Amino acid sequence: MTVKIGFLGGLGEVGRNCASVDIDGELAMIDCGLMFPEEDMLGVDLVLPDFTSILDRRDDLNCIILTHGHEDHIGALAFLLRDVNVPIYGTALTVEFARARVEEYGITPDLRVVEQYEWVDHGPFRFTFVPVSHSIPDAAGVAFDTPEGIVLHSGDFKLDPTPIDGVPTDLRSFATIGKKGVRLLLADSTNAERPGFVPSETTVGVRLDEIMSKATGRVIVACFASHVHRVQQAINAAVSDGRRFAFIGRSMLRNSDIAVDLGVLEIPDGALVDLDALVSMPEEETAIISTGSQGEPFAALSLMSAGDHRSVKLTERDTVIISATPIPGNETKVSRVINNLYRLGVTVFHGRNTHVHVSGHAAAEELKTFYNTVRPDALVPVHGEYRHLVTNAAIGREMRIPEVEVCEDGDVVILEDGKLRVERQAIPAGYVYVDGTEI
Ligand SMILES: [Zn+2]
Repeated sequence: MTVKIGFLGGLGEVGRNCASVDIDGELAMIDCGLMFPEEDMLGVDLVLPDFTSILDRRDDLNCIILTHGHEDHIGALAFLLRDVNVPIYGTALTVEFARARVEEYGITPDLRVVEQYEWVDHGPFRFTFVPVSHSIPDAAGVAFDTPEGIVLHSGDFKLDPTPIDGVPTDLRSFATIGKKGVRLLLADSTNAERPGFVPSETTVGVRLDEIMSKATGRVIVACFASHVHRVQQAINAAVSDGRRFAFIGRSMLRNSDIAVDLGVLEIPDGALVDLDALVSMPEEETAIISTGSQGEPFAALSLMSAGDHRSVKLTERDTVIISATPIPGNETKVSRVINNLYRLGVTVFHGRNTHVHVSGHAAAEELKTFYNTVRPDALVPVHGEYRHLVTNAAIGREMRIPEVEVCEDGDVVILEDGKLRVERQAIPAGYVYVDGTEI
């Protein structure tokens, strides 16, 4: 029996995470993400994985398995599904975020909700999700029971001991899987260079409370629309300070609706009001939760910072909290927004001047704890720039994982007859640029 893991993206850049799993000639995919263009990619709106190795064998493709609902894991789905519309598995929130994204392109996806811990059999693929804490609810690692042993993908994870939803990374289950013997672990490398532990998401809530209660005017909080727990903490901070709030931004409105429907976001009765009503209320009794934390030119915060938003005109009485740090490629855009906010006299808090953001990815000591829990036979670092992959590999070797391989986009890991080898640059994995957002 032969099991092959092919890397279509995410090993060499932060974004477009996408891998293929081949069991004796049948294919499945893990995630199907996009990347936002780097600053030197002029005229490019999106960067996709190269799907050639999938489309050349489209009849072999069984299904797509999603670890969580971030754009860099689900954002390229529509560009694949237009050519090959196969069943997609994910947890409830992941599935609904994916549905919203794909249906925007006029495609009807075959989405299937899977409970955490439930084993799914699809063709030769047998897999289960295990909860992990990350910067989006309902995130999961995925374990494949293959003829060559268990292949475990960590998903994007950290070891937040006090996550907002009370669902930490389930180390007990990872230990149980580890005891059965993990042949190959694929693990998140994003924060491998960062020593120590990432602080808990709850620590951000404390700071949001402080800022909100000291602000004498309106408070605008910008964060990722998919970061439901951050949105929840912004709501809690506003409500406990006697404020009512409005959402601004298409994805914020859409995602909060989905999250409320699924019971992962709670909005106290009467706290949410329409923006038009909010702007006529006393400023010190209001807050706005907005998109645009990445400086996207047409997102609400950018428009507000440029004085171009149709109903929100910012003044020196306002406080803006950018509850995020820029992802690579967005630094200049975010900086422009911050500069413009200061020009308007706004008080600005952001992830680099106070504690209004924590990362969703495991730092070095968390990776060590995870490796000690799983004790895999082999490790291939995934999800990161090359420097992150190399650093994560070094951590794996320090933890005495017997086999550690640094792979890049285009490489294929082959498990055969109990042995592991890497075929370098075996599948096309270059950047596919999209100009405009049509498909
Ligand atoms: Zn993620």
